[in-house]
Amino acid sequence: MARSTYRFREHTLTPDTDNPTLHTMECQACGQASSDSTDPRDGTRWAADHFKANPGHPTYQEHIERSYRFEPGAWQ
Ligand SMILES: [Zn+2]
Repeated sequence: MARSTYRFREHTLTPDTDNPTLHTMECQACGQASSDSTDPRDGTRWAADHFKANPGHPTYQEHIERSYRFEPGAWQ
């Protein structure tokens, strides 16, 4: 009877630097959001402007989108 041998390769989940990390700031009062940006300061500026125009909207949430990729490692 034939026997199969299975080999497994170790993989490591690492940040995918081909895809930039994107930051978006979202107003918790009305749901409006800044456009995606690789610079987190853009969202901070957007929130400052939004708060100036809407003093009743003091709370925000930053969304960060970071890509990951499994990189093959050593055979085991
Ligand atoms: Zn708002």
